[in-house]
Amino acid sequence: MMRNYGTPSRTFVTGKGCVVKDDQGKSYLDFLAGIATNVLGHGHPAVTKAVTNQVSTLAHVSNFFAHPQGLRLASRLQDMTGDVNARVFFCNSGAEANEAALKISRRTGRSRIVAAQGAFHGRTMGALSMTGQPSKREPFAPLLKCISHVPYGDLSAMSRAVSKKTAMVIVEPIMGEAGVITPEDGYLAGLREICDRVGALLVFDCVQTGIGRTGQWFGFEHEKVRPDVVTLAKGLGGGLPLGATIAYGRAAQLLQPGDHGTTFGGNPIACAAANAVLDVIESKKLMQSAKIFEKKIKKSLSDVPGISEVRGRGLLLGIELTTPIAKKVATLMLEAGVIVNAASDQTIRIAPPLIVTMPQIEKFIVVFKKVMKESDHG
Ligand SMILES: *Cc1c(COP(=O)(O)O)cnc(C)c1O
Repeated sequence: MMRNYGTPSRTFVTGKGCVVKDDQGKSYLDFLAGIATNVLGHGHPAVTKAVTNQVSTLAHVSNFFAHPQGLRLASRLQDMTGDVNARVFFCNSGAEANEAALKISRRTGRSRIVAAQGAFHGRTMGALSMTGQPSKREPFAPLLKCISHVPYGDLSAMSRAVSKKTAMVIVEPIMGEAGVITPEDGYLAGLREICDRVGALLVFDCVQTGIGRTGQWFGFEHEKVRPDVVTLAKGLGGGLPLGATIAYGRAAQLLQPGDHGTTFGGNPIACAAANAVLDVIESKKLMQSAKIFEKKIKKSLSDVPGISEVRGRGLLLGIELTTPIAKKVATLMLEAGVIVNAASDQTIRIAPPLIVTMPQIEKFIVVFKKVMKESDHG
């Protein structure tokens, strides 16, 4: 393989629930879930059954034709929006979902885009152009023109950045890759007002914050705000590659026949997995339990020496350390048998499967406290 991911420290061979095993036979509690992706953990019977049935029934038909799994999934996503005029475009990844949003915005006849500094929207050239992280962008200049980045959480900066030439504003409800940066309540609704003033589309990138992760279907629902476009991926397929771009109301009519497409996007197998994921989230009330676990983790870790803050929503949490030792902490956690992620020098991100149990949450807390003590955080 190429050098782009560096050299991984472990090779995983099997997984069951929230536990994965490496090629040395060592087990790990998985509190990253393939970066907020394996919402039902590993080897969940509902996903296994859905995928197995589907692959032996109908695996691929191309987008010239419809299939029941895709129709069912589209209609369920439409239901989640509460808008009977919402429409769905399926693709394979978060970057692709955001590329589709970008193309939808071009169909307004405008071309300018405003995004947030520090935001992550994917690595393909359009999505990278919207990504607000210089280290990821600069090696690949020139990127798309007419895209500006303003400080996240700052409504007056956004207000100054938009104009009647702005096609869309794109923002993550919580910035995941940047370190689980959580804006103040009212920010998302404020963006709605700003977009309405100039007639720009409001796009919420819920690739990381969607599918129950934050205790609601979409990461923006704690605010009463209706976006024009929502993008999903990561958790949607429960480990299978699937993305979706959902447009509301008039925005749903912008793409014309022939405007956009993908060969594999929304294929029957990935859609079958997604339907199983949604079934289990609903029947097991996993969004409710995510909120209970959030409270438990925040309460247990907030007064631990070396931790200054635990932020985020549901089971997407950022643990802010008082010193820049996040990489060391993540390595010690891995050695102690728990997978977490250093989202920045000073932030540990956790995004466990939504099927995580209270004993597993408690085990994570015990190990984390122990590692914080060992890591001599000063
Ligand atoms: C991961 C992520 C993406 C990119 O998704 P890929 O499937 O890796 O292309 C886009 N936006 C957000 C918010 C993400 O977290």
